[in-house]
Amino acid sequence: MGEPAKRNPDETPQKDPLPVSAEVDISFVIPVYNEAPIIDDLYSRLSKVVAGLGKTCELLFIDDGSDDGSYQQLQALREKDSSIRIIRFTRNFGQQAAVLAGFRHCRGAIIVQLDSDLQNPPEEIPKLLDAMTDDIELVVTVPRKRKDTWTRVAGSRVLQCFAQKMLGPSCKLNLSSFRALRPSVVDKIDQCKDKSQFMAVLMSWMGVPTAEVEVEHSAREKGVTKYGLSQLIRLTWDIVTGYSNFPLRLVTYMGLLGASTGFGLMAFLIFQRVVRGILVDGMVLLSAAFAFLAGIQLLSMGLLGEYLGRVHLRVQDRPDYIVDKVIE
Ligand code: UDP
Ligand code: MG
Repeated sequence: MGEPAKRNPDETPQKDPLPVSAEVDISFVIPVYNEAPIIDDLYSRLSKVVAGLGKTCELLFIDDGSDDGSYQQLQALREKDSSIRIIRFTRNFGQQAAVLAGFRHCRGAIIVQLDSDLQNPPEEIPKLLDAMTDDIELVVTVPRKRKDTWTRVAGSRVLQCFAQKMLGPSCKLNLSSFRALRPSVVDKIDQCKDKSQFMAVLMSWMGVPTAEVEVEHSAREKGVTKYGLSQLIRLTWDIVTGYSNFPLRLVTYMGLLGASTGFGLMAFLIFQRVVRGILVDGMVLLSAAFAFLAGIQLLSMGLLGEYLGRVHLRVQDRPDYIVDKVIE
């Protein structure tokens, strides 16, 4: 299962108020937002799986500002199980922030991330751990058959399609939130300043040695998905703007098209008037001049945006590359 973690979360940019002492083989990172009806089922299924692993484990629940009693339920579980740790956010910061907090505060040599709504069956965890061989840093999962509503699946497909386009063909994108990783991946996340981004996309972007396993996916039996249409659109837009300057370049291209069409039309009309003596309709000439000027304006905006985009990517401070190994 590899070395116990040496990483100290207190060295990460955001200080960890939790004690870091015990050596832990596996940390389970579980974001929770208003999942009160399902927490007890989750705990009973997960603890059975954990007991069967025969490893030192910790269950790290991140309560992302729940107001339905989830936190109180987690506290009650903590009373009877000392392997449970809880991080409570002051308010709802979103699943990505909750997962990141969990990654930073956990102590395991292997980290397993799973949703708290039992859509990722805990019984599949051993498969992920088996795939985490010494040369692997990240194990991603592919659901055998996704059991979500068609609107949720369609939303994910659109997001996947945009994100894959932005990342390019050399990145194999996996958006599942059921995965296992080593602390070295968290260190790499911490090298990027844009970590509130979609963790799954950031990890796919890194291209660390990855194994893929097929797992079951269950329908949500209690509670509702927290990802409605507006959240999915926001996520898609975050990925499009976060991973490329494509929207800015689109403005530049539109400007170039408008300016060249206007210019061509104007040149043609002037040629008709001067060389062939054909009288040109004033409105047509005006439209050509307008298209030309509007194009120039868009082009200038796009060019300014390109520079701004460079600053934006710089501010994110993502490393230019991630080294897998150096063999001397
Ligand atoms: N979640 C969270 N904060 C949020 C939204 C969701 O911690 O703002 C948690 C949620 O409790 C669940 C996981 O993230 O454990 C995935 O959420 P959900 O099941 O709603 O997403 P879906 O399965 O539809 O992708
Ligand atoms: Mg779910």
